[in-house]
Amino acid sequence: MSDQIQAAARFEAVRVANSRQPRRFERVLGRDGKPEQVAAYFGANTFSLGMMEEKLPRPIFERIKACIQDGQRLDLDVAHAVAHSVKEWALSQGVSHFTHWFQPMTGQTAEKHDAFLTLGKNGEAIERFTASMLVQSEPDASSFPSGGTRSTFEARGYTAWDPSSPMFIMETENGKTLCIPSAFISYTGAALDKKVPLLRSMEALDRAARRLLTAIGEEPRRVVTTLGCEQEYFLVDRAYWSLRPDLAIGGRTVVGAPPPKGQSLEDHYFGSIPPRVQAFMQEVEQELYKLGVPAKTRHNEVAPCQFEIAPIFREANVAIDHNQLIMEVLQRVAQRHDYKVLLHEKPYAGINGSGKHCNWSMSDSTGENLLEPGKNPHDSLRFLAVLAAVLLGVWRYNGVLRAFIGSWSNDFRLGANEAPPAIMSIFVGDLLNRICDDLAEGKGSGGSAEQAMMSLGVAQLPQVAKDNTDRNRTSPVAFTGNKFEVRAVGSRQNPSQPMTAMNTIVAEGMDQITAWIQEAGGGPEAALAAIRKAIIESKNVRFEGNGYSAEWLEEAARRGLKNHVTTPAALTELRAESTLALFEKHRVYAREELEARGRILAEQYITNARIEVDLMRTVIDTMILPAALGEAGELAGALDDLLDVADRLGMTGFSPATARLAKLTEGIRALHDARAALEQAVELADADEHHAEGTSTHVSPALQRCREAADHLETLVSDGRWPLPKYRELLFLS
Ligand code: ADP
Ligand code: MG
Repeated sequence: MSDQIQAAARFEAVRVANSRQPRRFERVLGRDGKPEQVAAYFGANTFSLGMMEEKLPRPIFERIKACIQDGQRLDLDVAHAVAHSVKEWALSQGVSHFTHWFQPMTGQTAEKHDAFLTLGKNGEAIERFTASMLVQSEPDASSFPSGGTRSTFEARGYTAWDPSSPMFIMETENGKTLCIPSAFISYTGAALDKKVPLLRSMEALDRAARRLLTAIGEEPRRVVTTLGCEQEYFLVDRAYWSLRPDLAIGGRTVVGAPPPKGQSLEDHYFGSIPPRVQAFMQEVEQELYKLGVPAKTRHNEVAPCQFEIAPIFREANVAIDHNQLIMEVLQRVAQRHDYKVLLHEKPYAGINGSGKHCNWSMSDSTGENLLEPGKNPHDSLRFLAVLAAVLLGVWRYNGVLRAFIGSWSNDFRLGANEAPPAIMSIFVGDLLNRICDDLAEGKGSGGSAEQAMMSLGVAQLPQVAKDNTDRNRTSPVAFTGNKFEVRAVGSRQNPSQPMTAMNTIVAEGMDQITAWIQEAGGGPEAALAAIRKAIIESKNVRFEGNGYSAEWLEEAARRGLKNHVTTPAALTELRAESTLALFEKHRVYAREELEARGRILAEQYITNARIEVDLMRTVIDTMILPAALGEAGELAGALDDLLDVADRLGMTGFSPATARLAKLTEGIRALHDARAALEQAVELADADEHHAEGTSTHVSPALQRCREAADHLETLVSDGRWPLPKYRELLFLS
């Protein structure tokens, strides 16, 4: 019986998973043979600024530094010198290949490796790496999603080195590759990736912040976006993973009955880390340190087998490259520990999902955080102006932010168990909320801005930054003392697009406040009046209550906040004239670029749904139905025999056994029906001219119905016959 062979494989997986030991890995050792301090090898695999200073002639170094730190243009002679020294360095490290490493709109990183090897005149081997190889490369752009940005006949794009993020060496088991962080652009200049718009949005925010700082009477200075991404993930033993096609291919269990001990006990959060997991985390950190990624915290998360890693924040573009590396290294190292990393937003139904909390702020060229509450009245005024800009921007464009965190997989999480809702409100905390309300009500008006700051009690704010204990976990955007935490971003998403949106809508908020200040003739009193105006207009975006509650849905609707429950609904925001105009005005996305992104997000939504449909078919047809039918057949045979014997002995009372067979048969029929309904749903979705909307209306509920029928059967079929590793094994026996 094939179903019994499958079940035997499951029991073997339980045995294997439970006999694993923590892996001992090769630590980086110092000269004395003892494990090296992190500081001694941090960034050893990056061509950092420090390394450039050491290896490049002084004038060249100064110019590349200006290019990295102040965004100045890169000249070819500088590129030439850098190419030469990076090649020497890479070869000395045993590197054989190089690649432009970029972030196309697939959401993953992409690379195409080239050897340094070339042939000389007499056919002899030479290692070569020129400035033009460093600066530019030409992958075949036609195989990446463009959302129609370019037609196929001009399907040519190139990758261009982004000097602001350091080059690094990626080590794999048998070799090393030099990775060159790059942007991906079409020959007509359109952004084909996620990095270019992010960099443009950082520039937009910088411009808007300078204007605002000038308007409130400060010296304008360069402002950069800072970002620290907390990455959540699940670990599962490879033995189980390989027996679940849904996990292996879609990253999520499409079926699976809830375990007897769910997360109700919540004993996993911040609990002690199991030794095998700890070994994995330590090796991940060692790899990350070599790559110059400052991994800082590690801990258990709320769900069983769920964990988090967070680095120290950096400038947003570097932080995002770091986040891509973290996801890559997690997966690579997991393999060595016989784990699989699940980055999916909702691998298990009924269990907490995974997010990527994006801690976002801005800092100026002196290193000062613009969202740090001020210690004197003037600094407080600046703080309030920046805060008001965030409130105003998010209020006006809350739907846009929602659209950019949308995906098939993140929709399972938004609004579900322990995940922020799809309504983009902002939590600021008690004290700040009261100050905003007082301001809106006109408290402190009449006198000078300085007096107003005193009477509002803004001076107490720095304290809040220190002990900001009243965190509201239910808010999608929360002020946490000196930064905003954008929590709705999904665990496997590239944070670029949500952060591009955040930067742009805040730049718009700043521009509006600046304009109001200028209209009122400038000066601190005009600034205070503008802040007040922004706080009054954006009042409805502030919400301190429970974002999980049913009342909030109604109240948010009354307040005029968007609640796009599904991604296809949210994507309409990206087609709105106001959105196109916003991104165009700030030179972040040209119209076609934004329209292309909307199309790609919709296409990806449909593709991911279809993958799940296929997985559901596979799992039902080839695993669950055979097991259930095998069970029913055997039960029917046994029951016949039993009734025969009973009949001969003149016994009665076998109704429980009959009832069990009836229940099983009923369950099989329900699954058959749900399975047939799924096919109909797919047809309906395909026939819908709005394919993505059709998918969310028809396919999502049909998948859910299949799941319920399958999960019910899981509770009826004998354990010895069930082919798929169960939730209790995936979650408690890994
Ligand atoms: P939590 O208590 O939310 O888990 P953590 O301290 O673990 O917070 O993580 C917060 C993240 O925010 C870290 O990545 C940290 O470096 C980052 N962070 C701190 N300050 C800033 C800032 N000014 N801008 C951006 N990110 C910041
Ligand atoms: Mg956090």
